Amino acid sequence: MSRYDVVIVGTGHGGAQAAIALRQQGFEGSIQMIGRDPSPPYERPPLSKEYLAGEKPFERLLIRPVQFWADKQIGLTLGESVTRIDPEARELHLASGEQVGYVRLIWSGGGDARRLSCPGSHLDGLHAVRDRRDVDRLLEDLQAGIRNFVVVGGGYIGLEAASVLRKLGCSVTVVETQDRLLSRVAGEDLSNFFAEEHQRQGVALRLGAQVERLEGESRVEGVTLASGETIACDAVVAGIGIVPSVGPLIAAGAAGANGVDVSDTCHTSLEKVYAIGDCAAHANPYANGAVVRLESVQNAHDMANTVAKAICGDPQPYDAMPWFWSNQYDLRLQTAGLSIGHDATVLRGDPAERSFSVIYLRDGIVIAVDAVNRTKDYAQGGKLVKARAEVSPELLADTDVPLKEMR
Ligand SMILES: Cc1cc2nc3c(=O)[nH]c(=O)nc-3n(C[C@H](O)[C@H](O)[C@H](O)COP(=O)(O)OP(=O)(O)OC[C@H]3O[C@@H](n4cnc5c(N)ncnc54)[C@H](O)[C@@H]3O)c2cc1C
Repeated sequence: MSRYDVVIVGTGHGGAQAAIALRQQGFEGSIQMIGRDPSPPYERPPLSKEYLAGEKPFERLLIRPVQFWADKQIGLTLGESVTRIDPEARELHLASGEQVGYVRLIWSGGGDARRLSCPGSHLDGLHAVRDRRDVDRLLEDLQAGIRNFVVVGGGYIGLEAASVLRKLGCSVTVVETQDRLLSRVAGEDLSNFFAEEHQRQGVALRLGAQVERLEGESRVEGVTLASGETIACDAVVAGIGIVPSVGPLIAAGAAGANGVDVSDTCHTSLEKVYAIGDCAAHANPYANGAVVRLESVQNAHDMANTVAKAICGDPQPYDAMPWFWSNQYDLRLQTAGLSIGHDATVLRGDPAERSFSVIYLRDGIVIAVDAVNRTKDYAQGGKLVKARAEVSPELLADTDVPLKEMR
């Protein structure tokens, strides 16, 4: 059995960045990455954007050229799952039966796409959008001429998929349980704007709608809602969130209910075991004291840097400002901060002009900015969020005054 100074589980954004940051920090010990995905580390955001649209080949999604990992003496074991952790012996058990020892372990397992569990969810033609293989299967359907889609889930992934499918000339109905789109992440102004935009682009919306079952013999032919309506389709895309991939960590005794709990240096409750990225529940300084799991490239990347620093003997608490983006049609939504606990919103600009921002306040303090086709507001608003600036709603709404002049 081999033992490595650092073993990283997961070869996604967090795992790859942890390895890169360790070498950047001058770490000279052995590093071994182990990931279930058979492809070398790649970026996920383009999967529901340019890759699905056929605008970017897979090679351009790679986080680093394949040779990089060997050049930096970072071992890559691909297509292999970690099934069990022995925290006393500091050993990992792999699906292949192999065992691997670690001095320190970084868990960056992300999450698995949540699956529909209604009758019919075994049928062909039901797609997730989580990894490259999911999107390749969806592309195969498109190449085979499938054009009628139901998208279940009106969050970022579902809406990005819907916008690409529309651009490709497909008919699309989005079914969302909540009574507005993006309800988990955005305020009502933004939800309404995106609902109108999708409808303008020809997407049919069913809000406040529950999927009762998928119809079909071997392949999906329709989606029946709790209202009794059946929407005919040839394929379904489910974008209904993720289930954090932390089974072996929790079974080994790590604390966590929604993912795995980590400290401000991303340490789990298990000795010498860190966790980062989508699966790491943490007290984010921008979350009004709440423990959150953030699903974003920024969070995975910055947590990876935090762990690399801690391992290299320079521990610093994780305090990066959250940011996020989403592309739909010609709209670029950029978010700085977290709107959790906001008690007021300010609309800056006119949604009808397709360039506006929504600014979120808590006790008069700017805590988050959603900017649609307004990159300056995003960049300058982010600085207000970082500075915890107190600005009057009237001034924030005044588009004649740049946000950078409001500190
Ligand atoms: C389609 C899509 C679009 C997105 N768009 C955006 C966007 O526009 N902006 C943004 O900020 N974020 C976006 N995200 C989110 C972002 O990609 C994630 O937050 C980020 O990838 C998280 O990194 P991670 O390392 O935590 O997890 P991941 O990148 O998901 O990597 C986790 C890896 O761990 C592996 N793994 C899990 N369990 C095991 C195990 N037991 N053994 C071995 N390997 C295991 C998985 O197979 C996976 O490869 C998007 C995500 C998706 C899926």
